[in-house]
Amino acid sequence: MWRLTSTDREALTAFAQRLIRTPSPSTQEKAVAELVAAELRKIGFPEVWVDRIGNVVARAGDGNGPSLLFNAHMDTVEVNEPGAWTHAPLGGEVENGILYGRGAVDMKGPLAAMVYGLKMVLDAGVPLHGNLYVAAVVQEEPCEGYAMRVLVEEEGVVPDMVVLCEPSNLQLAVGQRGRMEMRVTVRGVAAHSSMPEQGENAIYRAARIIFGVELLSSQLAVDSILGQGSVAVTHIESSASSRNAIPDRCVFYIDRRLTLGETEARALAEIQAIITREQARASVEVTEYQATSYTGYPCRAKAYFPAWLMPEDHPLVRAGTRAVEKTLDYRPRLIRWLFSTDGAYTMGVAGIPTIGIGPGEVTQAHAVDEHVRLEDLYHAASIYAALAADLLGG
Ligand SMILES: [Zn+2]
Repeated sequence: MWRLTSTDREALTAFAQRLIRTPSPSTQEKAVAELVAAELRKIGFPEVWVDRIGNVVARAGDGNGPSLLFNAHMDTVEVNEPGAWTHAPLGGEVENGILYGRGAVDMKGPLAAMVYGLKMVLDAGVPLHGNLYVAAVVQEEPCEGYAMRVLVEEEGVVPDMVVLCEPSNLQLAVGQRGRMEMRVTVRGVAAHSSMPEQGENAIYRAARIIFGVELLSSQLAVDSILGQGSVAVTHIESSASSRNAIPDRCVFYIDRRLTLGETEARALAEIQAIITREQARASVEVTEYQATSYTGYPCRAKAYFPAWLMPEDHPLVRAGTRAVEKTLDYRPRLIRWLFSTDGAYTMGVAGIPTIGIGPGEVTQAHAVDEHVRLEDLYHAASIYAALAADLLGG
């Protein structure tokens, strides 16, 4: 049974507060990364470094065995309506055992729980057969999985198992739907709007394709656990030389949620089939994510994040279940996350067994007055300790 000392409870809370008080919108994680690296050194990780994209990575263990990686992201979404908050968004205030602030649940609170959970294992001197890694990653919010891809494929840190510490209300997340973003560009022919028959209206062409997209949504594949894929047009713009001209170009964007078995190629082909049926001069493509990390690393990726799902009887799922049972005396429910996570890369692309467990309500992520119960952070820390000791200390 793993339990934080009262000193470590206070240290965990204070660390989470410092993280919240240090803003870290995506691509601007430098200051928080310095805090995380310093804390990982302080609690006793023998190796701590910052990789090329700006992830903070730590390692412990004798290297003779499997590699287990605990993952949290350091970036947060921005605070859009500070006036709507009843607690200062960057204040890190604690009231009645509840920690408030941007990132409290997504996921600076869980990050602090992860660090202090693993501190218990290091303090106890459990011999770790294999590698115990921590990865505190950048830019998860705009492009989940990208920083993990850099860590695995460019830095050569290849874990055998991944634990995502994103909020799951201390239940066990075993999968998620994927997502992709597409852009459809429709061409028309410009003409004076007093003689529309002389031109070809790109908006009318686009409208037909959009109607086809709406009809498509009911026909998408269904998975018994992850549910049905979905499709939605989320943004549209057009161009014409003036408001008395027939527009020659209309561009719209599609948010596509992918269930198991739905691939990038398949999702593109569905839209292409509508374009062909409507005999429109139009093209569809996956949008691109482009950014520069705080270390200067140029990021470029297609906005495609596949779905993933772990088999219920996988040893890692069983280990996650055991860790919760030992710590909290209940059998965790196996849930799917509605949002997308780094698992889109680790399990979805790289096929590395991945589970998710973290403190706090998922509905609090990105919300006004975002908060998490301190007690849940302490419980999560105990679960992470139990899991690391179980998988590497045997
Ligand atoms: Zn998150």
